[in-house]
Parts: sequence; structure tokens; C-alpha cells
Amino acid sequence: MKKIIIAIDGFSSCGKSTMAKALARNIGYLYFDSGAMYRAVALYCMQNGIIEGEKIDTYALRSKIEDIHITFEADQETKNSITFLNGVNVEHEIRSLEVSRLVSQVAALDFVREAMVEQQRRMGKSKGIVMDGRDIGTTVFPDAEMKVFVTASAEVRAKRRYDELTARGDNADYNDILENVLQRDHIDQTREVSPLKKADDAMLLDNSDLTREEQMDWLIEEFNKITAEC
Ligand code: C5P
Repeated sequence: MKKIIIAIDGFSSCGKSTMAKALARNIGYLYFDSGAMYRAVALYCMQNGIIEGEKIDTYALRSKIEDIHITFEADQETKNSITFLNGVNVEHEIRSLEVSRLVSQVAALDFVREAMVEQQRRMGKSKGIVMDGRDIGTTVFPDAEMKVFVTASAEVRAKRRYDELTARGDNADYNDILENVLQRDHIDQTREVSPLKKADDAMLLDNSDLTREEQMDWLIEEFNKITAEC
């Protein structure tokens, strides 16, 4: 069967990654988390004194951007994707609230996006991938054969993120998270370069009231329809 590219875009914390990962596993595709790449760039800034408070030294970051290499490897046991920043496993650090607070500002910089989009397109060269993010169906792979735009209410998304952080033993405050979700929505939707928006040819999926199983059944059905036509 011909392999395709599946682009899953949508708002922060609406379960895109979990869904994209499970879909990739079910259909034997590779999964790529583009948000993890922007998170890794934000972490790089924190680690290298490129961010002070909330202010990014864009001059310094521009001069370093070609030195930032992000790769993914599958965990031997869980098979989950692990993010590496210049060869170092940063999977845990990039999920912190501190990184979440900075990432949308970093991701709004045009030269950061150019560099990440180039790396993302390389990952999709042989097709057979599921990639999730904000601009995958609009900018990274405008010709992706299957595009899904996911949404859910801000409250549902904040609760899911809260559960995820507490489950891994992190301290979390629901109101802080809700504020962060709303702030990231705003920055993502209003930035000049590749703002978050549904591609005209993307299917809309509001998963506020869907179980994971219902969502997966729907995705597989759509995938089967699309690949049957290819
Ligand atoms: O998906 P996740 O929430 O981990 O992404 C972190 C941040 O990275 C988002 O809030 C958004 O600002 C940015 N992002 C982006 N473009 C993508 C993926 C993520 O701007 N393709």
C-alpha cells in the first residue's frame, strides 16, 4: 500500500501527541512531535543564557540556530519517542511548565521556524509518517494526504495537561495551566509566521466528548478511506 503523510494540527494540550502516537503505532508509521522541537529550542535558550526572564536574545539565537539539532529515538521498552537535543535526551525537561511558558515566543521567530520546518521536511521525505503540531498541514506538508485539525475546550485541555503533569509526579496548579493554555492559544493564533489555523482541506475533530477509542476508530476509518483512494 502506498505510504502517505498524516498531519495532525490543533490547539495546545488537546491530546494531539497521544492520538498521533497511537495512530502511528496502529498503522506502522513513524511518529514525529514537532512541538517537542520548538520546546527543545526553548530549552537550548534557557541552558545557554539566551533567555533572560522572558526576553529572548534573538541575535544570539539566530547565530546559534544552525547548531541546534533535534532528533527522535524510540524508547527500547515503551517504544515512545524520545527527544534529543544535540545528542542529549531532553524528553523530561522539555515538558516542564517553565519551557511551556517560553516556547510560544521562541516558536514565533521566523528564523527558528525556517530551521525547524527544514528538519521536519527531511523527516517526511520517505512518507509513512504521522507528525503533529500547529502548521504541519498548512506550511510543513501542505500536500499531506490526510490532515486533521483537533480542538477541545480550553478547560478540558488544561485538565488533561494537569493530569499528565501530576501523574508523572510534578507539582501542578490547574489555574496556572489554564492561563498558560489560553496564552499559548493567543500567541499561536496571532503570530505573523505560520499562525495556528485549520487548513482548508483538513478534517475538524472536536474531541472534548470523545473517548480515546472512539477517536481512534474514527482516525483509522478515515485513514483507510484515504489510502484506498491513493
Ligand atoms: O505541541 P506542544 O504543545 O508541545 O508545542 C509547544 C509549542 O510549540 C506550542 O505552544 C506552539 O507555540 C509551538 N509549536 C509551533 N508549531 C508547531 C508545533 C508547536 O509553533 N508545529
